[in-house]
Amino acid sequence: MNLARAGRVPLALRSGGHSYAGYSTGPGLVLDVSSLNAAIVGSGRALFGAGVKGLQAHLALAAAGAGLPLGRCPTIGLAGVTLGGGLSAFTRAWGLACDHLREIEIVTADGRIRRVRPHSPSPDDDLFWALCGGGGGNFGVVTSLEFATEDIRDLSFTRFMLAWPATAVAAVIQGWTAWNADPSTPRAVCCAFEQLSDSGMPSVPTVTGTFIGAPGDLGPVLDRLAAAVGRPETHRVIVPCDYVRAASEADRWGGGTWGPRVAFAAKSHIVREPMTPASAAEMAAALERLHGFTGVGGASGLLIDALGGAVDDRPSDATAFPHRAAVGVVQYHSYWHQFTDRAHVDRRLQWLRDVHAAMQPHLGIGGYTNGMDPELTDWAVAYHGENYPRMQRVKATCDPGQLFTFRQAVTPGPTT
Ligand SMILES: Cc1cc2nc3c(=O)[nH]c(=O)nc-3n(C[C@H](O)[C@H](O)[C@H](O)COP(=O)(O)OP(=O)(O)OC[C@H]3O[C@@H](n4cnc5c(N)ncnc54)[C@H](O)[C@@H]3O)c2cc1C
Repeated sequence: MNLARAGRVPLALRSGGHSYAGYSTGPGLVLDVSSLNAAIVGSGRALFGAGVKGLQAHLALAAAGAGLPLGRCPTIGLAGVTLGGGLSAFTRAWGLACDHLREIEIVTADGRIRRVRPHSPSPDDDLFWALCGGGGGNFGVVTSLEFATEDIRDLSFTRFMLAWPATAVAAVIQGWTAWNADPSTPRAVCCAFEQLSDSGMPSVPTVTGTFIGAPGDLGPVLDRLAAAVGRPETHRVIVPCDYVRAASEADRWGGGTWGPRVAFAAKSHIVREPMTPASAAEMAAALERLHGFTGVGGASGLLIDALGGAVDDRPSDATAFPHRAAVGVVQYHSYWHQFTDRAHVDRRLQWLRDVHAAMQPHLGIGGYTNGMDPELTDWAVAYHGENYPRMQRVKATCDPGQLFTFRQAVTPGPTT
């Protein structure tokens, strides 16, 4: 850091390297914290080095009878996912990853090693607030994270998947968002709507998720989901599993995780209310357009992750993550392989721009910090909402010279 500051060398911070926009790399120095990978779990606490990855964390937690709502991807970096909020298989039951933080060790631009926690004397208290969901790369180099863990010794876990016919897309989107927003839907259930069209493969709407409980208790809950959709599902799969399997959902993200490396781009919106018939129909129409992409290579589609439950127990300014009252986060994705020709990549990128533009009038300005879209111009409002001015004050206090910066980084603002 001192070298970068003295020599004015651009500095990029990297933990798991999963930044959608590639903000953990750059033309100058890459400070990769991967080797800070110690994991110590016990007595209701977990202390992880900032280089610990998702699966490593879940294995260490499980061995100690503990659990945390960390990201589902096995290779995701703990620093990146937690600093941006952190959606998981347990979001509705246990809240965001950052909600479990108790202490963060960080090296700030002045070279000081600071241990920040809630209710520490100002300005460290503000810095802790900003690190909880404000997004990585903005305030300093996080070197370790200490979490309060959940006790899972008496818990059982179940995974499930429901699928409907392709003609039911709008009904599933509308029904799933209404069911997810319904206060009587148990927090123990956390699932996502997903439809991904592979080249030449017919795609169907699915809802996939995790239940903290036994398979036998899940049936009536899923019956209510099917009733909200108003169309009977064609497939219902319910399987008991262990904590690690429930937490990491390795196979759902498998293509980009364990298989050959794929490139991808994404955009996002915040789903603040259950989708209306008009907005669900617009989204379904966008997915329908993908059926014309037969044979172009790659895949495109969308994923709506659940919010609600414990996330909404805290006000939207409790931490820097502003979207606590929302129903979910929708991410539009396009993937391609190195052998996909450029015209086809452009076609998939254009689909992303089109679906984002088509949904904006329905969903408004909003997006997920952990799904940064380098094309988004109103990113400060979209990612940080009304919390942005306070984040700017923290930035002005701890990094006025903007040693830590990238295209969509927080900029210093007035300190009063
Ligand atoms: C396959 C895949 C699966 C995903 N699954 C989920 C999921 O289940 N839930 C979810 O919420 N998100 C998920 N994401 C999004 C993910 O949370 C973000 O991309 C996150 O920023 C990745 O963190 P990272 O450390 O792996 O990435 P990096 O690219 O290393 O870092 C991301 C950002 O954080 C900064 N940063 C990295 N290390 C540090 C550090 N030590 N101190 C300060 N800043 C740092 C970087 O500079 C960069 O700006 C997924 C992404 C991918 C690609």
